[in-house]
Amino acid sequence: MARIVMKFGGTSMAGTERIRRVAGIVKRQQEAGHEVAVVVSAMAGETDRLVNFCREASALYDPAEYDVVVASGEQVTSGLLALTLQALGCKARSWLGWQVQIKTDDAHAKARIEDIDADALIASMASGEIAVIPGFQGVSPEGRVTTLGRGGSDTSAVAVAAAVKADRCDIYTDVDGVYTTDPRIVAKARKLPLVTYEEMLELASVGSKVLQTRSVSLAMKEKVRVQVLSSFIDEDAPAADTLPGTMIVSDEELANAEQEGSDMERQLITGIAADKNEAKITLTRVPDRPGAVAGIFTPLADANINVDMIIQNVAKEKGETDVTFTVPKADLPRAQSLLEERQEAIGYYRLIADDQVAKVSVVGVGMRSHAGVASTMFQTLADRGINIEAISTSEIKVSVLIDSDETELAVRVLHTAYGMDAPA
Ligand code: ASP
Ligand code: MG
Repeated sequence: MARIVMKFGGTSMAGTERIRRVAGIVKRQQEAGHEVAVVVSAMAGETDRLVNFCREASALYDPAEYDVVVASGEQVTSGLLALTLQALGCKARSWLGWQVQIKTDDAHAKARIEDIDADALIASMASGEIAVIPGFQGVSPEGRVTTLGRGGSDTSAVAVAAAVKADRCDIYTDVDGVYTTDPRIVAKARKLPLVTYEEMLELASVGSKVLQTRSVSLAMKEKVRVQVLSSFIDEDAPAADTLPGTMIVSDEELANAEQEGSDMERQLITGIAADKNEAKITLTRVPDRPGAVAGIFTPLADANINVDMIIQNVAKEKGETDVTFTVPKADLPRAQSLLEERQEAIGYYRLIADDQVAKVSVVGVGMRSHAGVASTMFQTLADRGINIEAISTSEIKVSVLIDSDETELAVRVLHTAYGMDAPA
């Protein structure tokens, strides 16, 4: 017997038929002898619809009331799933955020979970009742409804799994695991049996949208074992306990698996992701003196604009350099106006903005112990005539900025170059 938290996303919960399918999967898991809690998303599209109502009601809406509105999508699906489970003969009840309680801070619309009272949940699960918990919502210190930011149900599920000390958190979604890259771009992408927390974090932050980034950091911190798997399966599909999806594990677990030879196909690079949500800004002829770069980035930081890749070109003329960096596309207009206001103070000549760029990243813990990953990337792109406009690296990631028209080609050739293509 194990204690399992199961999470179902919006596509899996979209409508009565699909909720019945989900209830069947949950029931089977309980019949396998496990204690079960379920965390659900709102029906696909529902949260967008509710957000729009808020915008229509008031352009500058109060985030506390926004939370009351948008949290309702998950209230509906949690009740419906409990009802459907009861109709299948299971004992089940819903537990809203304020009932559990899922305690958060009071940062409405982007609240962070601080604590979960798990005793009542654990008792309910142990009595054979299935606990159904709406994701995305919590309760503030003042007792008001909060939400965790878009995509927050993943974080709810991991937090509940940590609180009830679950053996596993199964995240059911519309794909059957984490792939080496987007299978819609590369037909030869492979499903990965194991990904480490850090790899998943890097992949999530560079555009692989399988899990909310915050849920991955939380899983890593709380050592929650997470599996990503498909809810679109039939009755004779392999049971979740046989780990048919992708397991997100610690470095030690990966090392053990490699020793046992259960992850034979693992390559140096684990995944490739592309992100088209950044824009590039170049400031030309910035004075090459102490404080010039701080003069550019301090106002951006003060405005909460996240700068990612940064390069400073070799001084062309004596005492001047070009500075290039990226910001989220959505922040480009704000960044541009902040910098234009300060043109004289910073002392640059021209601001060039370009939002037709993409960041392509290769990720893998294997990089720690192997040289040559970056050079393979640069050479592969050069062979195809793809120009690199900026570079950034971490211990387990190399990212390059390229023309967005060349994204798909770049991902495809890199997938082949690192030996990741599935055998035909
Ligand atoms: N329903 C929320 C959203 O669409 C939370 C979630 O599904 O994870 O963002
Ligand atoms: Mg999601």
